[in-house]
Amino acid sequence: MLDIYPILCRAGTMDNYSYLLVDKESLDAAIVDPSETAPIVAECEKHHIKPKYIFNTHHHFDHTDSNLDIKNLFQAKVVANKADSHRISGFDIAVQDGDDFWLGKSQAKIMDVSAHTQGHILWYFPQDKALFTGDTLFNLCVGGLFEGSVEEMFEALAKIKSLPDDTSFYPGHEYTMHGAYNALRLMPDSKDLHKYIQKAQQKLALGLPVAPVTLGEEKCCNPYLMAENLQKLKHFL
Ligand code: FE
Ligand code: ZN
Repeated sequence: MLDIYPILCRAGTMDNYSYLLVDKESLDAAIVDPSETAPIVAECEKHHIKPKYIFNTHHHFDHTDSNLDIKNLFQAKVVANKADSHRISGFDIAVQDGDDFWLGKSQAKIMDVSAHTQGHILWYFPQDKALFTGDTLFNLCVGGLFEGSVEEMFEALAKIKSLPDDTSFYPGHEYTMHGAYNALRLMPDSKDLHKYIQKAQQKLALGLPVAPVTLGEEKCCNPYLMAENLQKLKHFL
C-alpha cells in the first residue's frame, strides 16, 4: 500500500502537482511527473525519503523538467512510456499499455490514453484505488488535445470510466476552478456540481489540493466524463 503526498509545483503560474509515492512496506518511493526541483526535494527531505523512481505520464516540459535533477540527486530511474523514449529526458525504463510495474509491494498498471499527447499514460494502482491522470483528467475538466483527436479523448475517458467508482484520482494540475467555471456554464442547474464546487473551494481556502476526488464523484460533475457519446464530447471540447 502507498502513502501519497501531493507537491504543488510552479505555484501561481501553472499550478502543477507532482506526487511523492511511498510504498509503506518496502519504503521504496517514486516521484510522479517532477515539475520543479525545490519543492520536491523539500518534500523528500521532510519524509527522509530518497525516491528510487520517477514515473512520467507524458513528455510535456511541465511534467518532466526536473527529471534530470531528481535523477542525479537521488540516483532515481526514469520510468515512462516506450513510445516517448526519444523525448523524455533521462529515460531509463520502458513501460507500455497493459504492463505492471511494482513500486516495492505496490502494483501499478500502465494504461495508454493517447489524446492530450500521443503516448500519454495513466499510472493506476488497483489495490490502492489510486489513479494518476497527468493532463488527461483534471477536476471538472480534461486536458487539451495537443496531439490527439476527440475520438481518442472519448476512448481515453471511456477507459477511465471503466475503473471502479471508489478509485481516487490525482491530476497533474490544480485546475479545479477553471474547470468549475466551464462546467457551470454547461450544467448551471446541477446540484451535484454546486456541492462539488463548494467542497473544492473549502479545500482551496485551506491551501489544500482539491485532489483526491473519487471517479464516482467526478462522473456526476465533470461534463466531459458525462458526455455519453462522441457528438456530445465534440460539442463540449
Ligand atoms: Fe501536458
Ligand atoms: Zn501539464
